[in-house]
Amino acid sequence: MSDSMNRRECLRVLGLSGLATGLGSTPSRGQNVGESSGFQSSVIASGKVHPNRANATVVDGKVIQPSRELSVLDTTDVLVVGGGSAGVVAAIAARRAGAKVTLVERYGHFGGLWTGGLVLLILGHIVKGNKQVCQGIGEEMMRRLDKLDGAIIDRKPGANPTVDAEAAKYIMVEMIEEAGVNVFLHCWGVEAVVNDNAVQGVVFESKSGRQAILAKVVVDATGDGDVFAFGGAEFEHRSHNVGLVSRVGNLDRVDGEKATGSPTPRHLGSHTPVPGVNWVNLRGPEVDGLDVATLTRMELNHRKFIWTSIQRARRTPGYEPVYLMETAPQVGVRITRVLHGLKTVTLADLKAGTRFPDVVGVGGSERANHDEWQIPYGALVPRNNVENVLAAGRCISVDMRMADLVRLIPNCFVTGHAAGVAAAVAVQDRCRPREVEVAKVQKILRQQEAYLG
Ligand SMILES: Cc1cc2nc3c(=O)[nH]c(=O)nc-3n(C[C@H](O)[C@H](O)[C@H](O)COP(=O)(O)OP(=O)(O)OC[C@H]3O[C@@H](n4cnc5c(N)ncnc54)[C@H](O)[C@@H]3O)c2cc1C
Repeated sequence: MSDSMNRRECLRVLGLSGLATGLGSTPSRGQNVGESSGFQSSVIASGKVHPNRANATVVDGKVIQPSRELSVLDTTDVLVVGGGSAGVVAAIAARRAGAKVTLVERYGHFGGLWTGGLVLLILGHIVKGNKQVCQGIGEEMMRRLDKLDGAIIDRKPGANPTVDAEAAKYIMVEMIEEAGVNVFLHCWGVEAVVNDNAVQGVVFESKSGRQAILAKVVVDATGDGDVFAFGGAEFEHRSHNVGLVSRVGNLDRVDGEKATGSPTPRHLGSHTPVPGVNWVNLRGPEVDGLDVATLTRMELNHRKFIWTSIQRARRTPGYEPVYLMETAPQVGVRITRVLHGLKTVTLADLKAGTRFPDVVGVGGSERANHDEWQIPYGALVPRNNVENVLAAGRCISVDMRMADLVRLIPNCFVTGHAAGVAAAVAVQDRCRPREVEVAKVQKILRQQEAYLG
């Protein structure tokens, strides 16, 4: 800071003047340091009418949407839609494999259910002998979390680690930026751009309006298979339990002596890297996670249930300090659409120990009681003739009995990794994803430290 520029002026130049009163000065004890003066605002345009309006109209009792040209927000090699555990890994993998990559996410952060859904327990990477099969970029994330203070606990062979959601969001920003992935947050994919059965991009809604991003290959990491469904790929529509995760605080202040003899309150969850804070899973009823009225009902009912159960816990002697820190911003949808792929991950193959020539990943379980099971590339590729789109994460092609293993976070890292590399190879070799030379994909995956058995 130059001698002639004081701290307040410096913050103003940096566009942080609002912080000058709130954070830049040391508050005296008890002083309120909330919103105050010192912000900047100006008129960008006055008397403006929203451009490029194409409002729906009612014609003969039907709501009709007129056609219009859309602006193109970006043109890229690989477009990854959905910034959850699968999408983030897919974007990093494709970029490291040499493709130009754009990652689009409907919310304001990365991680999907892992962070926004507060699903903090990493399950699904272990097989017999406490061997860890999920390696590659997902494991790199775990190693990086290891180096941060208070980011991950229980990182040891045969154990299931638990992460801090903010640390995970932070590490994903770091890795996405390091890789050079172009990102748009607050963008909701609503339609595919399709010519002759080939997906050419995706249409998004955001505060900037309805725009398109064009791409040579699209990776659908939306969890719900939104993009492959928009594009015309065949899928199975399933119901599953929809829950809502929460975090509970002050468990380290429970008075054990006072609590002796009282029944232990239910729904207090398991530990996290933050002392005294637990994450609480909630199974919820089996419903259709694509139905907006159902999702609304789940949110409202679960929130009431969680609040009430913590209030009940607080009435238990010794548990008075316990409180509800937060309910997850993202409702816990487990499975909705799964792709009908060229191949399917099945329990029969797990039991038979099938080894696929097109293996692109190996999955595990939460306990060391499983053999490793292989994920074939065909499980990411649509069975019918819809081109240029690959699935990653909890919406890949999987039978009912394997879905609860496939959807675990490390296995989503693994399928995201495979989809990202395969998309980059398809772009590089100017071929359709179903035609990629799988040996080339496997070679790059191994170079990126993935384990393929
Ligand atoms: C309640 C609950 C408890 C669970 N417990 C565990 C556990 O203990 N351990 C474990 O390992 N796994 C657990 N799971 C499973 C695991 O959390 C998820 O299956 C996994 O995180 C899914 O990752 P994903 O990247 O495939 O999908 P998601 O995490 O759902 O990510 C999809 C991303 O795409 C975005 N998106 C969706 N649609 C669009 C769109 N149209 N346009 C733009 N963006 C879009 C979403 O906002 C999200 O960020 C649990 C799941 C739930 C629901």
